[in-house]
Amino acid sequence: MTKKLFISTHGCQMNVYDSDRMAELLRPLGYRPAAAPDDADMVILNTCHIREKASEKVFSELGRLRATRREREAAGNGGMIIAVAGCVAQAEGEEILRRAPYVDMVFGPQAYHQLPEMVARASRGAGATLNTDFPTEPKFDTLPARAADSAVSAFLTVQEGCDKFCSFCVVPYTRGAEYSRPVAAILEEARQLLAGGARELTLLGQNVNAYHGEGPDGRPVTLGRLIRLLAEAPGLERLRYTTSHPLEMTDDLISAHGEVPALMPYLHLPVQSGSDRILAAMNRRHSADDYRRIVDKLRAARSDLALSSDFIVGFPGETAADFEDTMTLVGEIGYAQAYSFKYSPRPGTPAAAGEMIEEPVKDERLQRLQVLLNGQQADFNAGFAGRVLPVLLERDGRQTGQLVGRSPYMQSVFVEAPRHRIGRVAEVRIEAGFGRSLKGVLVTPDAAAA
Ligand code: SF4
Repeated sequence: MTKKLFISTHGCQMNVYDSDRMAELLRPLGYRPAAAPDDADMVILNTCHIREKASEKVFSELGRLRATRREREAAGNGGMIIAVAGCVAQAEGEEILRRAPYVDMVFGPQAYHQLPEMVARASRGAGATLNTDFPTEPKFDTLPARAADSAVSAFLTVQEGCDKFCSFCVVPYTRGAEYSRPVAAILEEARQLLAGGARELTLLGQNVNAYHGEGPDGRPVTLGRLIRLLAEAPGLERLRYTTSHPLEMTDDLISAHGEVPALMPYLHLPVQSGSDRILAAMNRRHSADDYRRIVDKLRAARSDLALSSDFIVGFPGETAADFEDTMTLVGEIGYAQAYSFKYSPRPGTPAAAGEMIEEPVKDERLQRLQVLLNGQQADFNAGFAGRVLPVLLERDGRQTGQLVGRSPYMQSVFVEAPRHRIGRVAEVRIEAGFGRSLKGVLVTPDAAAA
């Protein structure tokens, strides 16, 4: 019997990947996508612990789901299994079941492959399940094959977990130790995704460039080598990877940027701060100059490489001079895109015990940084006006007859084009670059291209 599943996904691309895999796991049990929670027999909140007040937002969402479940039951539409997954589940599972005892299951990112058993238990009314272990059997070995219809641009998790223990971050506690999937399993999943229509693969990992999976000869394979192997896969047009740590930016990986045409000239390489003092307090284990040297090497390998980064402002103990170091670094590097946040403490992390910066100071610093970063992004985008870019057309745009694609540099590109060109790379003449996107026209209009 067909049942409906709604997954509410928060946070990073790894959660997007995990949500897709959960939907695939539940398909043999009859679950198909629901358009909204009130139409769903099961709702999974796939949560993120990075943002401020993450757990409070989960509890508010759970309260709304409880009301929705009651309305469904009152209307005779059946019950609703409520599940909490992801990093908040991992970090605060017991608290969730204590404060929201109506939740049927709580499970962490390393346990979602056991979802069919957990659903069976919930369907029997056997009580709430808390599954926040780090099971010994590799999760990926028990996941089903990828669905036959892939997104044009698909995620492929190659590595999970983190051993870096940056002092502000919960990931090492919620996702566990670094684990790299074997090369053969990754190549097989890539093959399935490409057979299903994917043309671009983004390799995911919390520390993706720490990848060291087992190769066919039993020896470890680096991310640079993995990229070279994947680039041979039939049907693959584009490769990306995220998220990287500067410490793991090896010469082998840097040279791949110059040597592998499928590897797109865009890299998210978080630096967090331009101050050596703050980088040390963050336990990043590199200096601002180390980062500058890595960027120089990357640009020597691929001169048009566009960079993105994460920044935290108002980290405990950050002085005005430390913040100016960040502004200087941003000015020197020049970013195509960036994510910047005010520091907010995560319970249980070392930085949470540090000397807090007052909110107005953080606000003022964040505003200054964002003005600089937004200006760099707008300038970067405006510089493409008049140029022709290869754009991978991914999906319908908001306007009739419009498609949205991606440039090699990760910009969203809006272009008038027929739907049958989705999944193909088109030459697009850029007419204008905006703050966050580009607009252009097809160089080869449809009649001539067919
Ligand atoms: S490297 Fe990234 S995931 Fe790992 S602890 Fe640092 S910020 Fe968190």
